[in-house]
Amino acid sequence: MIAIYFSKEFYLHTPPMGLYHPENPRRLEIALNALHYSGFKENIIEVQNVKVDVNAQEFLLKMHDSAYVEHIFKLCSQGFEGYIDNDTYVSRGTCKAAQKAIEISMMATKHVLEHRHSLALALVRPPGHHAGVMGKAMGASTQGFCIFNNIAAATTYALHSGFKRILIIDIDVHHGNGTQQIFWNNPDVIHIDVHEHGIYPGTGDIHDIGGKGAEGTKVNIPLPPYSGDEDYIYIFSTLVEPLIYAVKPRLIAVSAGFDAYINDGLAEMRLTESFYEFFGRMLYEVSRALGIGVVATLEGGYSIGLRNGLPAMLKGFAKQEYAKFRIEEIKTSYAIKTLVNEVMQTLKQYIAI
Ligand SMILES: [Zn+2]
Repeated sequence: MIAIYFSKEFYLHTPPMGLYHPENPRRLEIALNALHYSGFKENIIEVQNVKVDVNAQEFLLKMHDSAYVEHIFKLCSQGFEGYIDNDTYVSRGTCKAAQKAIEISMMATKHVLEHRHSLALALVRPPGHHAGVMGKAMGASTQGFCIFNNIAAATTYALHSGFKRILIIDIDVHHGNGTQQIFWNNPDVIHIDVHEHGIYPGTGDIHDIGGKGAEGTKVNIPLPPYSGDEDYIYIFSTLVEPLIYAVKPRLIAVSAGFDAYINDGLAEMRLTESFYEFFGRMLYEVSRALGIGVVATLEGGYSIGLRNGLPAMLKGFAKQEYAKFRIEEIKTSYAIKTLVNEVMQTLKQYIAI
């Protein structure tokens, strides 16, 4: 069963002075409309009251430094409306929206861990995976539209509930630098990040494999620009899926960004529904085989990626309109095959894949 959680409070985070910004409330309307018209109307749940057994503001300090959290709340309480870096804005409603995003990400996790849903998607904004311990992460120039880290909240909630070995899969076109920084030294969090090489935030090198004691738990797969469905399907079939079975996680947490969809607007990748359906299907099959659930939080995706990629992922999970791929028929490049080998060589001494 699939649940899609959202809150009207996510609309309160608005670009300053009414000027255009790609990360704006319209994104949620696009996503909700697309889900509505692709058979998921009944799965959408508007959350009025979040019931989790932790205080979200206190819980934030497990992911972020108190000075950073206080700084953001202070801006909101002062009625600040403007940019905190070249990409990222804070408006009057930002703290309400960002805190609700954290709470709903935790609630979605709770319900998956209680086996209420096989997949719970927290349709949140602002996004989170670039938000690190102090805001900007790993030398990035900005926070990339993110305030608090939603997938880190989901993951930390699962750890807090006694579930060890949580697997994060980040399919957003940008590297999840905030997430990687937060869990860098934590061997209980395995983070697989597939992203476009050479764009913001500039991190996510193959050889970044985790801090001392957590080596091999951070897996970075930087793809060349213009990679498409077959490249991604090859990588997920030959590398990501075997990794999941090797790791045997207790929960899969997906940083669900759809900005690698062709012409979504912020990057050069060329994914279509084919990959997202394949990915949803893979999530369904591995989670069922391992007897675990999947929680997902919305990251990027700014136009057509939300319209087409998001419903395709859920359709794949729900077993609708699924086309089976035979790996020997997948046409990918020498560069992608070399990349898969290089990642495997790097991880071999830490994980049996
Ligand atoms: Zn992104």
